[in-house]
Amino acid sequence: MTTHDVINPATEETVRTIDLVGVEETDEAVARAVEVGPQWRAMAPADRGRLLRRFSDVVDDHLEELARLEVQNAGHTIGNARWEAGNVRDVLAYYSAAPERLLGQQIPVAGGINVTFKEPLGVVSVIVPWNFPMPIAGWGFAPALAAGNTVVLKPAELTPLTAMRLAELALDAGVPEGVFTVLPGKGSVVGERFVTHPDVRKVCFTGSTAVGQGIMRGAADQLKRVTLELGGKSANIVFADADLEAAAAAAPMSFLDNAGQDCCARTRILVQREVFNDFMGRFESAMRDVRVGDPGDDATQMGPLVSDRQRETVRGFVEGSEEPVDVAFRGTAPEGAGWWYPPTVVLPRSTSDRVWQDEVFGPVVGVMPFDDEADAIAKANDTAYGLSGSIWTRDVGRAIRVSRGVEAGNLSVNSHSSVRYSTPFGGFKSSGIGRELGPDALDAFTEVKNVFISTEP
Ligand code: NAP
Ligand code: MG
Repeated sequence: MTTHDVINPATEETVRTIDLVGVEETDEAVARAVEVGPQWRAMAPADRGRLLRRFSDVVDDHLEELARLEVQNAGHTIGNARWEAGNVRDVLAYYSAAPERLLGQQIPVAGGINVTFKEPLGVVSVIVPWNFPMPIAGWGFAPALAAGNTVVLKPAELTPLTAMRLAELALDAGVPEGVFTVLPGKGSVVGERFVTHPDVRKVCFTGSTAVGQGIMRGAADQLKRVTLELGGKSANIVFADADLEAAAAAAPMSFLDNAGQDCCARTRILVQREVFNDFMGRFESAMRDVRVGDPGDDATQMGPLVSDRQRETVRGFVEGSEEPVDVAFRGTAPEGAGWWYPPTVVLPRSTSDRVWQDEVFGPVVGVMPFDDEADAIAKANDTAYGLSGSIWTRDVGRAIRVSRGVEAGNLSVNSHSSVRYSTPFGGFKSSGIGRELGPDALDAFTEVKNVFISTEP
């Protein structure tokens, strides 16, 4: 059996060695998920809801344990990791109400009655990246289970520990064996098997655009359903009429949260030309306050990158770049063991610069001036991606006009929020297909069935 050493990104020490699942075990898990499917979907809606609610409570009882495990496995700050475990709890609680609200329609027709049902798909697979192992798992499995599907889930090879623990907690809560199975293994093995296995009816994928495109191509063979949450290169647009101090104070963590390994990171700051220098001065002083260090310390705001490889990728955008990259200023990072990289602010020379166009997935941001509203929207949209974005202005009409003009799925005004479990989340353009979370998430895990019943005598 192949094994994988899980490494603590802050210390480079081995946390645990785990056995990686292969194709055979994947097929066994899918077969079990098929077998228990009818029982799970036939369960009374209130009972299925109660089990998910209990699962949520068990997660809450283990919140600190899960959070500490994520600090060790992914190098997340303890504050973030507590939020992440709490998010799994909340998403489960939110969708525990869904089985009893999986409403269809009654549509007026001649000669009878017509009703629609939202039927579960069957076995749903979830493929999770290493940047947010807990929340992204929950956004897939919670609504999928609520809709009556059974779930097989593959965590990223680098960060399997919390998902494996969540599967144990599901059993503790009384979710029947085989309904929710976590399969730690390689993307090229377990992930690809999800795509090719005829009994897996859907792939819910979060990760890189390139792998997502491959999954969509592979899924075409069986017309398998896909939801894709991919990369981002989100704009943070600061107008001259904004509360500049608030915009500057919020800018550091808008790209440094999770050490920049966030698909919603605001990695392109666009500042209206007349306040550019004023903003940069305030931004630089706000950057000085960011605490980078031991992720287990409550006061830490930014930890290490997830892996040596990821750090090299990030470094390649700044130090190793073929085109010249002008660094405006930098924060500090610990030295010695751990995959640290300092917060870095760059001034791209052109909108075609790699650091301005490509997703870095690290603590690096570019800043560029713009002239007016039309220029801001054009620059914000000059990217293949379309996941998130922020608009800072005191003009309500402008806030709405620009929100409507930016081609992205999740925008925030005078803040940097992207994700709330009760609101939809997903991308335009190369950032993905489909939406997760919010009131309509179950649509992505069900098929609409239409039934006409004749009332003719
Ligand atoms: P990735 O390769 O797309 O990995 C995401 C998930 O897909 C992992 O569980 C991975 O498994 C799995 N996978 C890989 N190849 C697969 C395949 N052929 N078939 C099915 N599943 C497969 O992303 P990454 O290598 O971790 O990160 C690379 C870049 O992707 C990052 O630098 C970042 O730009 C972007 N990214 C974006 C997000 C996001 O939230 N949108 C998240 C992560 C990464 P293994 O881990 O076992 O390979
Ligand atoms: Mg990969």
